[in-house]
Amino acid sequence: MSINQSGWRPEMGDAQGSNDAPTFTGNRALMLEEPLIFEIADNSTTGVDFAEEDMPASRLGGLERQSDIGLPGLSEPETVRHYTRLSRQNYAIDLGLFPLGSCTMKHNPRLNERMARLPGFADIHPLQPVDSVQGALECIHELAEWLVKLTNMSSVAMSPKAGAHGELCGILAIRAALEARGEQRDVVLVPESAHGTNPATAAFAGYKVQAIAVTPDGRVDLDKLKERLGPDVAAVMITNPNTCGLFERDMKAISDAVHEAGGYVYCDGANFNAIVGRVRPGDLGVDAMHINLHKTFSTPHGGGGPGSGPVVFSAALTPFAPLPFVEKRDDGFHLVEEETADEHHGQSFGRMVAFHGQMGMFTRALSYIMSHGADGLRQVAEDAVLNANYILRSLEDVLEAPFGKGPCMHEALFGDAGIAEGLSTLDIAKALIDEGYHPMTMYFPLVVHGAMLIEPTETESKADLDQFIGALRSVVERARAGDESLKGAPYHAPRRRLDETQAARKPVLVWQEPELAQAAE
Ligand SMILES: *Cc1c(COP(=O)(O)O)cnc(C)c1O
Repeated sequence: MSINQSGWRPEMGDAQGSNDAPTFTGNRALMLEEPLIFEIADNSTTGVDFAEEDMPASRLGGLERQSDIGLPGLSEPETVRHYTRLSRQNYAIDLGLFPLGSCTMKHNPRLNERMARLPGFADIHPLQPVDSVQGALECIHELAEWLVKLTNMSSVAMSPKAGAHGELCGILAIRAALEARGEQRDVVLVPESAHGTNPATAAFAGYKVQAIAVTPDGRVDLDKLKERLGPDVAAVMITNPNTCGLFERDMKAISDAVHEAGGYVYCDGANFNAIVGRVRPGDLGVDAMHINLHKTFSTPHGGGGPGSGPVVFSAALTPFAPLPFVEKRDDGFHLVEEETADEHHGQSFGRMVAFHGQMGMFTRALSYIMSHGADGLRQVAEDAVLNANYILRSLEDVLEAPFGKGPCMHEALFGDAGIAEGLSTLDIAKALIDEGYHPMTMYFPLVVHGAMLIEPTETESKADLDQFIGALRSVVERARAGDESLKGAPYHAPRRRLDETQAARKPVLVWQEPELAQAAE
C-alpha cells in the first residue's frame, strides 16, 4: 500500500535535515505568514481615487459620523496579496480528498462553472420581466422535473437555500397541512443518530422534539417508534441513508406506521448521493425531503452559502408547498407567485425567500445531471458506495467498525476502541492535518464513541483512496501504540493545536488595537 511519502513524525525532523530556526519574515518557503488586514493596513491609504467634488449640503441633520470609520486601507495589489496568501492556508476540494462524512464533498466539475457563467444565466436579475428570462425559467423547470423524477415525488420547491432551510420548508408545509386538518399535534420524533439540524428545525418551527432509539445495528428502532406514535405526533424526521452510513431498511414500514397514526414523514435527503438513480424516496412513503444540490449534485459548498436545498413533496403535501414555482404552459414558462385556486399549491404556506432560489446553483446542478444522464447518476451512487466500502474494509483491522458487519452505504463509520489510553479521535484528526488532509467528521454521530465518519464520494481514484488509507492507518497505528507526540499535532499547519474549548466558549470576534486590548486585560 502506498503511504504518503511526506508522512512526517516529530522525531524525523533531524533525519530529514529540517531546521526549526525562525525566518525573518515568519514565512516558511511557500507557507506564508499573514497578519490580519487591520494589522497591515492603515486608514490613510486607499485603493480608490475619487475626484474632488463639491459636497452637497448634508441632509443627515447633524447625524454624520464624527470620527474615522476605521476601515483598513490597502492598495489594490496589497489587497489581492493579502487574500491570496490567506486562501493558500485553506484546504479545498481542489487540493485533495475531503473526507468529511455526511457532507458529500465531491469534485465540482468545471463544465458546471462554464454553464453558470454564460451571460444569459449569470447576468440576469430576479426582477426582470418573465418574458425576458424564458431560458432561465426553462432550466429551473427542467431541473425540477429531474428532481421529481429521481425521487418519484409529486412536486418540488426550488427556492430553499440549503439543506437546513429545506428542512424548515418541509416542516412548515407539514404544519400547514395539519392546520388545514384542524389538528393540534405538537411533537416531532427524531432518531438519536440525526444530524443536529433536524431537531433544531423542528424546535424552530415550534415543535417539541423527542428522540427515537437506535438499534444496536445503527438503525431506527421500528418497535420503539411504533410505541411512541400517537395523536400528538406531527412528523418523524429520518435521514436515509442515515448518519451511520446505513440504509434504513424499514423505511417503508416506518412511513406506513407514521401515516396510519396521522403523521407525516420528513426525510433528510442530505445522503441522497448514496442512492440517487437506485432508490426513489417517493416509493418509500416519504412526504417531504430536501436535496442538497451542493452535496449530491456537485455544486460548490460555500461558507454557509450559496447552497441550494430544493424540497420534493408528496401529493399530500403539494398543496401546501411554498411559492413561487415555475409552470410550463402552451405559451411558455410562467413564474407562479400568487396562490392559485387549484390543487397545486392552493394552500401554500407562503415563501421561503424573496426571489426564486439560487440560479447559479440550478445551472450547475442541471449541468451535472445532464452530463451524467440517468445511467451516469446511478453509477455515481454505486461508485460512492464502493469507495466507502473500500475504506471500511481497508481499515477495519486497525479501527473499530461498530456497524461494520454488513456493507455500508456512502460513508464509513469508525469508533475509537483500541486507541491507547490518553489519546483520542481528536489527536488522530489533528495528525491527519500534518499528512495534508482535512480531517474526517469526528464525534458524530453521537451514538458511536469517539466517532470518525469518512465519506470519500465517487470522485476519488483508487490511488487517492490508497494514499488516504495509508495516511490514516499510519496515524491510527501511532495512536494504538500510545505515541504521545500525537497530542501536539498538527506540527506543520500555519497554527499548531488550538484551544478549541476556549475558542468555542470565548471566541474573540472583534480585532482590537494591541494597546487597547492590553488596557482591557
Ligand atoms: C449537510 C446535512 C444537513 C444540512 O444541510 P446544509 O445544506 O448544510 O444546511 C442536514 N442533514 C444532514 C444529514 C446533512 O449531512
